[in-house]
Amino acid sequence: MTGKVNGITVEEWKNRLECEKCYDLISELFDRIKKSRLNAYITLCEDEALKQAEKYDSGKVEGRLSGIPVAVKDCISTKGIRTTCGSKMLENYVPPFDAHVVERLKQEGAIIIGKTNMDEFAMGTTTETSYFGVVRNPYDEERVAGGSSGGSGACLGGGEAVLALGSDTGGSIRCPASFCGVVGLKPTYGLVSRYGLIPYANSLEQIGPMACCVRDVAVLLEVIAGKDERDSTNAGRGFKFENRYENHSFRIGIVKEMGGNEDVTGRFEEVAELIREMGYEVGEVSMSSFKYALAAYYIIATGEASSNLARYDGVRYGFALEELDSWTRYFSKVRALGFGDEVKRRIMLGTYALSAGYYGKYYLKALKVRTLVKRDFERAFSDFDLLISPTMPALPFKIGELTDPLTMYKMDVNTVPVNMAGIPAMSLPVGLVRGLPVGLQIMGNHFGEEKIISFALKVEERVKEAL
Ligand code: GLN
Repeated sequence: MTGKVNGITVEEWKNRLECEKCYDLISELFDRIKKSRLNAYITLCEDEALKQAEKYDSGKVEGRLSGIPVAVKDCISTKGIRTTCGSKMLENYVPPFDAHVVERLKQEGAIIIGKTNMDEFAMGTTTETSYFGVVRNPYDEERVAGGSSGGSGACLGGGEAVLALGSDTGGSIRCPASFCGVVGLKPTYGLVSRYGLIPYANSLEQIGPMACCVRDVAVLLEVIAGKDERDSTNAGRGFKFENRYENHSFRIGIVKEMGGNEDVTGRFEEVAELIREMGYEVGEVSMSSFKYALAAYYIIATGEASSNLARYDGVRYGFALEELDSWTRYFSKVRALGFGDEVKRRIMLGTYALSAGYYGKYYLKALKVRTLVKRDFERAFSDFDLLISPTMPALPFKIGELTDPLTMYKMDVNTVPVNMAGIPAMSLPVGLVRGLPVGLQIMGNHFGEEKIISFALKVEERVKEAL
């Protein structure tokens, strides 16, 4: 089984649309969301969504996603819809423009139903740092849904949306996909425009698709990928899934340094065995730079964050105070009251690592590690088409279980090397262990999304029969 609790695929939703009015289906969906304890949404767009559903019923909406309810992570700008980034700092911020990906959703007739909950400024692995409260796991409400796109993962696993957008700086799409039993893909750096994505660490992050099956992820990626001159790092190319590798005999490499605890590795080994039985050549690969990757990631990411977050000064937008005495006191107070603890910790870490005396010792060293990580991947992809590992090193944690920041950071060990190299990677559900979902991470070379998806379709089918 894919580990689907109440998840709805595009095909299932379209079947429902054949017999029922879109308006009724969307109203039912909102009823379900309002009764839910998952806390997957920060803002619901009920009026606008119902209007769009009425339009669909009158035959006036065209496009590949017409009539499909889509949830959007709350760090992606939506014109006229509050976009909080999970922070008190942006609690009442309403963007005057749409992100590129939101423009694309609208062009394809999607129904945007709401903005999903997330770790504050996407900094976290469990969505416990959100100013709007923790997101609960649809498989066990006492556990976390993963992060930072926890709301996007939970709303899909819990049947509260059909498609969702997340963002991934160091694992934030793949982690909640893994914890909530859904599919999530971090695209190659540059494939999807970041225009309108509120930045955390620009050189690492990408917006990406999340859904309840591989095919739906492919469709959503086709919609959001593409040329956009407003993002200078945009690769200027689109994506079209043609299944060119349907019967390709991929060489699959298991990354030795990407592991996990017994719960996770036990299932991972079973899946690796299935992949072998399917006729793929499976080997092992060792990446010596990975032991430094996590530390380097947290220097680069916090460095970029400390500079990005300097814009929140309580003057131009966001959280502000009534009284203005001295400028420095005002600025400090706004930031002291507007940011949560984790965000402050990262601003301090990043500022320290970038400061004159330490820049060479930390930041430049981290950049060197980044180069080594890229080289290790290049080497691995000369021997293998795709690499695999467990997505997360453990099953979803109990809410409040991880208290110390360093232990939390360590949970990103399998996901961050991918962002450092800018390559694409998917988390695919591979059934349940003790009632909780496990994810398989499938990594490809730059712009290797086609290969990842072709392979994932096969594994998805096989896993459904076997596990
Ligand atoms: N957990 C990682 C971090 O906190 C990744 C977050 C993300 O991908 N946005 O930095």
